[in-house]
Formats: sequence, C-alpha cells, structure tokens
Amino acid sequence: MESRDCLNVSLENSLYSISQKTLDSFSQKFLEGFPFAYLTRFSEFYFRKFYVDSRVLIPRNETELLVDLIKQENTEFKSICDVGVGSGVILLSLVTHKGFGIDISPDALEVTKINARRFRLENSVTLHQGDRLYGVSEKFDLIVSNPPYIKESSHRKLVHNQVDRYEPHMALFLKDDDYEEWFLTFFNQVKTCLNKDGLFYMEGHELELEHQRDLLLQLGFDDVKVIKDYAGLNRFIRAKRG
Ligand code: GLN
Repeated sequence: MESRDCLNVSLENSLYSISQKTLDSFSQKFLEGFPFAYLTRFSEFYFRKFYVDSRVLIPRNETELLVDLIKQENTEFKSICDVGVGSGVILLSLVTHKGFGIDISPDALEVTKINARRFRLENSVTLHQGDRLYGVSEKFDLIVSNPPYIKESSHRKLVHNQVDRYEPHMALFLKDDDYEEWFLTFFNQVKTCLNKDGLFYMEGHELELEHQRDLLLQLGFDDVKVIKDYAGLNRFIRAKRG
C-alpha cells in the first residue's frame, strides 16, 4: 500500500499526540470519502479490533451475522477453511482448533497474518495463496467464504460509490460472463474438500443465491438453505455435504 493512501495515526492513541497538520490531512481525506477504517487502520468485528488497510475489504456487519449463524450450529469444527480470507475476520473469529486461510491476493494474506499475530492465533492458522480451492488436498469440517460476488457490470449500480472507489476490486467483482462457471467450479471443489457431514457457509449476492441453491442441490449437497441478512435480503447460503 502506498503511504499517501493512509495516515500513519491511530485513534487508539491519544489524539493529543497527533499534530494539527496530521489531523487536518486526516479530516481532509475523510471529507473526500476515504473510508474511516482505512484511515484509522482498524475495524471492529465480533468484539475484536482488527487491523485493516486498503489491501482488504472493510468487514461488514452482515458478515458478523455469518459468524453468528455458524456459532449457532453448536458444532465443534476441528478444521475450518476460509476461502478469500482477506483480513481474517471470519476465520479468526471462528477458529478453535485448525484454521486454513486462502486468498488469491498475497497482499491480503499479509493482513491476515498481522491479525493472526494480534490475536495470538498464528499457530492455529495456515495461510495459502491461491484461487478458490485449486491445489488444496486437505479436507475440512467447515468451509466458509465471503467471495467476490458482485457482477462487474449488471450488479454495479447497487455498489456504493465509496466501496467502488476505495476497496479492492479483486475482493468484490467477477466478470458477468465468468460468474456462473466461477461458482460452479468453486462448489465442486467445496464438495471435494469437505468431510462427510461437513458444512459450507457462504455470503453471496441477493440476486444470485436462489439460483446458487439450485446449483448446490444439483451437485448433491443436503439441507441447502438461503438465509437473509438484517435488511431482509437473501445474503447467505448453508449447505451440508451428505
Ligand atoms: N457485501 C459487500 C459489499 O456490499 C460485497 C462483498 C463481496 O463481494 N464479497 O460491498
């Protein structure tokens, strides 16, 4: 990340120790719409303060709901894989035994690493750079993912301008023409990499999840369920590997 993208201050430290010049520049960036979380380099997620910067998405409230849903399963997941791990908010909020975090972006994995160390979980997680589950031979009790799920053109108008301008596009968008194949390949890989009775949870797009439920059913997953977010929109999918 370029240093001009971010002020080297933290609101966790006393504001009194920040010079007027720094504060002015901070306010200026904020007024221009630069996301607050990238300025302060932290974001609260599930009762913890995560380090974030513009190499990763800013965690969303609805993703906390995803973590909640998984915790409510009341199941001891001995191995958890997070595909598109980003800052690590999902994986690091859930891991109790063994966690495996995958991201296509080596920059994002640097951020996951910072957070794993911050919460002393570096010995519980293994990180891997790659696209979806290509090349992964392990099997897991839980696979979770908040993948890029916005169609680059047809869903674009639903994207907030600040998100579009400042957050990493690689974590947000897929080409419209690749979308179907991208998820079909991913779901097939999930099936291969889940243990019997393993669970798959994914955050997805409100306009795509019902179709993706049909895909998962066709692939032989059981108990496939679309779940709504706080706004009443379809936001998550849960499926079990029979
Ligand atoms: N929910 C995110 C947004 O509104 C999208 C995240 C994603 O594509 N994984 O920007």
